[in-house]
Amino acid sequence: MPLKSKCYACLKETNNLKNNYCPKCISELFDKTVPKKLTFDRKEFINKRAEMSDKMSISGVQDKISLAFDSSKNLIPTAKNGKYILKPIPIHDNALNLEDIPANEHLSMLISKEIFKINTAHCGIVEFSDGELAYITKRFDYDSDGKKYDQEDFASLMNTTPSTHGKDYKYDSSDYLGCSRLIKNFVASHKITVEDFFKRVLLNYLIANGDAHLKNFSLYSKPNSNEYTLTPNYDLLNTRYHINEKYGDMALSLIEDYYTPTFEAVGYYTYADFVYFAKLIELPQIRVEKIFKLANESLDKIEKKVINSFLSDNAKEFYLNTYKQRLGRINYIVKK
Ligand SMILES: [Zn+2]
Repeated sequence: MPLKSKCYACLKETNNLKNNYCPKCISELFDKTVPKKLTFDRKEFINKRAEMSDKMSISGVQDKISLAFDSSKNLIPTAKNGKYILKPIPIHDNALNLEDIPANEHLSMLISKEIFKINTAHCGIVEFSDGELAYITKRFDYDSDGKKYDQEDFASLMNTTPSTHGKDYKYDSSDYLGCSRLIKNFVASHKITVEDFFKRVLLNYLIANGDAHLKNFSLYSKPNSNEYTLTPNYDLLNTRYHINEKYGDMALSLIEDYYTPTFEAVGYYTYADFVYFAKLIELPQIRVEKIFKLANESLDKIEKKVINSFLSDNAKEFYLNTYKQRLGRINYIVKK
């Protein structure tokens, strides 16, 4: 009997892996093509990215590149119609612990998908030709026939740009309350979507993602449909491990220029802030309690995922400690 090992996408242990992936992930993430090791390394990736940067349709200028399967079932860089986005360990960055970034994003996405049950982009870890690990995620803005979805991020839906709100426009021009209002304006099934959004905001707080800014939320509508809804969750990371203090607990305030008495006393968001925020976005208290219960009952599962993840031992310890600390915060209630 072969030894059990973990799937590079869902982290589940099984002895039924093909090239590091379980059958479910081969189907979900790779559309039934068993992926091989990448045929290039990070150095070649960087050169390719430079070559293709003018033609690429992924927004942003981060260290990422589009991939597609070629006729021999190799995942290769492509300027057009790439179904995947590859994000290796970044290079030009002032951040700390760079080598843990791919595993951190992978773990955070799995927590969103499997523990918080949020619609989340499919993702996994892949190996470069030299064995170095990178993060890979499947694009969600195409249907199975290759038709592009109509997708807009919240910054663009709010018409905020560097020229209207300065270079930090994606952090400075709104708050999470403003995002909820936007959902109410654009989404027909907004009650469900606002609840989904609340859960995403709480998750970002719990995993210490300080980068859930306006471009990290988007609405999309499928081809031939006018119905807008939130896209799957994407770009999740415990940013605290890579960028030191001084960086806000969250990318946006829950409610700009408003602080609950508890916040004023302790200096960070606690139970009272999320409950007040929920009230303003008209999320019933019973739904809030249900989401808090899910968060409170998540710790064992989070622990297992963290231990099983590709993070270094230091990063695992940090991830778990921040999660526990944040969980403590959201349960903090001032006793009168
Ligand atoms: Zn799997």
